[in-house]
Amino acid sequence: MMYDLCVIGGGINGVGVARDAAGRGLKVLLLEKGDLGGCTSSNSSKMIHGGLRYLEFYEFGLVRKSLGERETMMRIAPQIVSPLRFCIPHRNAVRPAWMVRAGLFIYDHLTRMNLLPKSEIINLSRHPFGQALKVKSGIGFAYSDCRVDDARLVILNAMDAKFHGAHIRVQIPVTGMTAVDGHWDIETPKEKFKAKMVINATGPYAHQFLEANGLVQRETPHLRLVQGSHIVVPKLYDGDHSYMIQCLDKRVVFIWPFENDFTLIGTTETAYNGDPKDACITQAEIDYLCGVVNSEFEKQITKDNIIWSYSGVRPLFDNGEEKDARKVTRDYKLLLDDHNGAKILNIFGGKLTTYRPLAEEVVDMLNSHFPQMTGAWTADKELPIIDFKFEFNDKTLHHFISREWARSIDDVLWRRTKWGVHLSPENQNILKQNFDRLLAEELENEEDFIY
Ligand SMILES: Cc1cc2nc3c(=O)[nH]c(=O)nc-3n(C[C@H](O)[C@H](O)[C@H](O)COP(=O)(O)OP(=O)(O)OC[C@H]3O[C@@H](n4cnc5c(N)ncnc54)[C@H](O)[C@@H]3O)c2cc1C
Repeated sequence: MMYDLCVIGGGINGVGVARDAAGRGLKVLLLEKGDLGGCTSSNSSKMIHGGLRYLEFYEFGLVRKSLGERETMMRIAPQIVSPLRFCIPHRNAVRPAWMVRAGLFIYDHLTRMNLLPKSEIINLSRHPFGQALKVKSGIGFAYSDCRVDDARLVILNAMDAKFHGAHIRVQIPVTGMTAVDGHWDIETPKEKFKAKMVINATGPYAHQFLEANGLVQRETPHLRLVQGSHIVVPKLYDGDHSYMIQCLDKRVVFIWPFENDFTLIGTTETAYNGDPKDACITQAEIDYLCGVVNSEFEKQITKDNIIWSYSGVRPLFDNGEEKDARKVTRDYKLLLDDHNGAKILNIFGGKLTTYRPLAEEVVDMLNSHFPQMTGAWTADKELPIIDFKFEFNDKTLHHFISREWARSIDDVLWRRTKWGVHLSPENQNILKQNFDRLLAEELENEEDFIY
């Protein structure tokens, strides 16, 4: 079978493109070498946000686009995107108050349709947000953004792509690609596929993937890989609000409530050279994050309080001019290449927040190649709602295997759910045995298995 489009990579950008293109009538195949969202997209800070701190680097265009998208996401995915109030304790040594106020004013007004409460100055000695802090006096700022379940955002997009006819395949690495007579022959360890066009949505692997297939061109940009880590500790404070802490090195660290009983803290920026799937928190990152908490919060933590940590690698589009990772743009770049008449569209960089307009832009770029394609549609179409309760039972595990492409217990414990932070190792192990049994049964009936 000749596909119109083969999307390589099942992170947020890959599934976003697959959903958009399938909804416009293209025959789409998506190949993911591991789990959907298993690389960068499930290891983010889990915010759908404009990126307040990017204003400091004059990224007004990116912030405006992201804030607009925040409103869209609240409309089309309220089941996984919810508003969050942030407190910024004021620290004069880092930024003067006028600067933070000016930034927040711009943040409130950059988007035409801001559905969230506006920012305000608060008195930390009287406001409940001051309660958890070490210094309960002085001023702070409150502002709004959104949180998202990043891993589920990927799955819901994949489910909708499938609903529109896309074939979604996991645990299938693309190992080779050859341009033949204006189309691509795509190799994987067990099967071969054909597609008229390829979308390289391999995230942090994007450059390396082209290199491995001899497809790097003069104008192919480089990616700067920057690791970011998060830690989860027992709840540091009561309430649904979050904190943005201004650190002395001018970075910011966020602190969010997590899974009712916990607090999530992140993130860091550490240059990374290894395989993105092996990213793992370093001792220096642990010390840094614990240090930030201990300098601001009444409750103190050490590495022994860490219940869980995760690390992801940002694929930052690198123009080679900026040394400071904080300042490298979080915007994306799309590059359409031609190899002997076969087209490949490469995605470099991006944010979770802007995956939908990115996907729309990618598919719009294919217009002249697929004139039968219908127009953009995703801004007004809700993502699917799963209408049953996830419980620790076979029915739920079966759902994750047969409807959500889970292939290992980790896909369930740390991505489809966050049960991993709640369950003891013994209970995780029982769940694993049940999962493995159900997966083996399901694989036996592979012909009615989902693609
Ligand atoms: C620490 C951190 C915090 C972040 N926080 C936020 C945030 O709060 N808000 C926000 O908007 N953005 C955030 N981001 C950015 C956002 O997470 C990323 O931009 C986004 O997830 C990138 O998605 P992707 O699909 O490009 O890459 P990925 O999610 O990495 O997907 C690429 C996929 O390609 C697959 N792949 C690679 N090679 C092959 C191959 N040969 N064959 C088949 N499959 C292959 C990989 O397995 C992977 O699953 C954060 C990033 C990090 C690292």
